[in-house]
Amino acid sequence: MILNLNSNAQEKDALQLKSRLEMMGFKVMLSQENNRFSLVIVSGIDERTYIKEFATLPYVEQVLPIKHKYLLASREIKKDRTVIEIKDKKIGDGSLAVIAGSCSVESKEQIFETAKLVSQAGATILRGGAFKPRTSPYDFQGLGEEGLRYLRDAAAEYDMLSISEVMDTPDVELVAKYSDILQIGARNMQNFSLLKRVGKQEKPVLLKRGFSATYHDLLLAAEYILSEGNTQVILCERGIRTFETYTRNTLDLAAVPALHQLSHLPVVIDPSHGTGIRSMVAPMARAAVAVGADGLMIEVHPDPDNALTDAQQTISPTTFAELMVSLRAIGEVVNRRVN
Ligand code: PEP
Ligand code: MN
Repeated sequence: MILNLNSNAQEKDALQLKSRLEMMGFKVMLSQENNRFSLVIVSGIDERTYIKEFATLPYVEQVLPIKHKYLLASREIKKDRTVIEIKDKKIGDGSLAVIAGSCSVESKEQIFETAKLVSQAGATILRGGAFKPRTSPYDFQGLGEEGLRYLRDAAAEYDMLSISEVMDTPDVELVAKYSDILQIGARNMQNFSLLKRVGKQEKPVLLKRGFSATYHDLLLAAEYILSEGNTQVILCERGIRTFETYTRNTLDLAAVPALHQLSHLPVVIDPSHGTGIRSMVAPMARAAVAVGADGLMIEVHPDPDNALTDAQQTISPTTFAELMVSLRAIGEVVNRRVN
């Protein structure tokens, strides 16, 4: 439920009302848009709560029940789109955020070379896994902290931001120490203790959709992060499991307009994991921009055939640079600024 306060309410009045409601047993978040305050009651409401009584509280102008369980992620709570600002870069502001780099950080030389080539082509965020969620325990698991250090240094060298996956709750502070953005992988979308922990730290979080998660499930997972106080969440569609076996996953591009209708959070598309097939990455990336995505996450490696992980879906720097040219043309038509 949302309590919209009237224009006389100052911050101190909103805070006073918030603590009064908290004393009554509700969990309340304060939100502010266009100099107007709202109180969002995120828990404590049940069928016995007499909703009309909230209208009699001081400064309350309007009481809005919310239809769905996710509140803070919903469009109803925030009409303006969330813009995430990291250093001098923005995500969700009408520009296209291009995240590119190898599936995993393999060595210092490899990630520096990758950073050089993808930044020359226009990418502004460098990806690279240091903790890899592998289906087989015998496959390369990533370089750990050493990989995070190489990724951070390569990103800094080419004026890029860095993003890396955090797989385990105890590693959150470590990954946050090195990376500008924390990635939660598809397999961990409903790892609630991990979501709560990334919600308690300050770095933005890119949350990947689980293989069989609905939009509702994804938004509730985002709600776990938001309800801990971290407002900087980026949603990522990376393909879901369907009966189709030709592609690794089915990339659900309808997620972009759907999530934009349901939520104020930016939406990024990952056509690499979304298809699993190198030749399909560029066409689906172009479609993602056409459909309104706020960003792309693409696996690129200087020597794709010999990438240690996800080689079959990794594109070359040349293909990536060509793709960027076509994205600029599409961006002009759909009002997305492409670097
Ligand atoms: C990744 O981006 O490296 C990754 C493992 O992706 P996902 O969690 O979507 O499988
Ligand atoms: Mn990968």
